[in-house]
Amino acid sequence: MAAKEIIVIGGGASGLMAAVTAARRGARVTILEHQPACGKKILATGNGRCNLTNLQKEPDSYRSHAPKTVEKVLRRFSVEDTLDFFSDLGLYIRNKNGWIYPYSQQARTVLQLLLGEVSRLGVKLKTEAAIQKIQKVRGKWKLTTDTETYQADAVILAAGSKASNLPGADGSGYALAESLGHRIYPVLPALVPLVGEGDYFRQWEGIRMDARISLHVNGNFVKQESGELQLTGYGVSGIPIFQLSRYAVEGISQKKRAELRIDFFPDGSERKLEHLLQTGKSRFPRKTWEEILSGIFPEKFSRIVARRSKKAREEEQPRRIAQNIKHWKVSIRGWQDYTYAQVCMGGVDFGQVDADTLESRLHAGFYFAGEILDVDGACGGYNLQWAWSSGAVAAMACTDRKEERKPYDTNFTTAASN
Ligand SMILES: Cc1cc2nc3c(=O)[nH]c(=O)nc-3n(C[C@H](O)[C@H](O)[C@H](O)COP(=O)(O)OP(=O)(O)OC[C@H]3O[C@@H](n4cnc5c(N)ncnc54)[C@H](O)[C@@H]3O)c2cc1C
Repeated sequence: MAAKEIIVIGGGASGLMAAVTAARRGARVTILEHQPACGKKILATGNGRCNLTNLQKEPDSYRSHAPKTVEKVLRRFSVEDTLDFFSDLGLYIRNKNGWIYPYSQQARTVLQLLLGEVSRLGVKLKTEAAIQKIQKVRGKWKLTTDTETYQADAVILAAGSKASNLPGADGSGYALAESLGHRIYPVLPALVPLVGEGDYFRQWEGIRMDARISLHVNGNFVKQESGELQLTGYGVSGIPIFQLSRYAVEGISQKKRAELRIDFFPDGSERKLEHLLQTGKSRFPRKTWEEILSGIFPEKFSRIVARRSKKAREEEQPRRIAQNIKHWKVSIRGWQDYTYAQVCMGGVDFGQVDADTLESRLHAGFYFAGEILDVDGACGGYNLQWAWSSGAVAAMACTDRKEERKPYDTNFTTAASN
């Protein structure tokens, strides 16, 4: 029997995993990548260090309208399978409290190993291939780019999301899925900096401080995170903000009010801070409150806090300042655009995708993998894990697939509208 011909659209994390998995199972694989090179986003991950998976998982590590499907896919190709896969490629890893990185701390290592395997397996790599048309003709997929036509028994759409400022992340994959009749849940940035309401942000730009931050939507507590907060000219950023951001974005997009409550002194109580300030003032009565604060907090921050509390009477200052520092409120009016986001929420609706195989329920032999699907993960390696798992599951399913099943279409034509 002739080997199956499989086309993977997109040479990113999920596409490369899908290509390797399918080729190892005997398929003839072609990757169609519309950029001049594959895996650009992999290189950007983890600040260039690539946090490729995580040994721990919380109930909200993945967010989707179909959490059971996501769980199923993650079980079918698990974190252990991922570690085995990369270990077989020769990757040595580093474990930082469960967050897994290449030992080299270079994302390039991960990409090079994947590309090396793609090449060893004889996968064809066609870059700068912009798909114009997808047709299903007598059970075969026909994909037309501006220069060539490709035929395949199965197609895996692994075109990623709109997140990041990388040129390949243009959302054209959503248009392809839509043109095949697939529903798309609204795509919005997740893991993204948040824009605050107010005119003081320019003054705190550049400050980094450890803080405990909780998100409230319409006054209701949603989630709390701790870690290094980056104060920016428009609002707030940093890992704890990324972790809260998708819930803030979701709330605001539903016309709800989102507010962050920040504790800038997470290591001690309000009483302790008040006491520290009182002691400072009694020892150095000539010092201003800003000067006393500067012994504890970054100078810029001390200036803002002192200014904010200056209307209080002198004897009330320590209490007022401590209150402000422990209960700082930032109303969120928006978020930075896709180019600042690490991932997107929303995407191809799992309702039209088979949970076991990631095959389209509308078109036999058409599969999805990666972030294009309606799932987004928290910071910590969960998004790449989804890319590895879904890429492997789609590839295993399409190489296993025996025959055309009804009631799928047998002939179908669509033009991709980028
Ligand atoms: C700055 C940054 C840091 C990140 N850090 C981490 C991290 O440390 N850990 C983690 O788990 N996740 C991280 N992520 C998220 C992670 O990179 C993505 O979730 C993951 O790469 C998604 O894999 P994918 O295969 O779905 O998409 P991608 O990796 O984006 O690949 C999609 C590919 O498809 C190509 N393509 C798009 N449209 C078409 C088309 N129409 N035709 C042909 N080709 C097309 C693109 O050019 C691209 O090569 C980070 C993201 C960013 C932006």
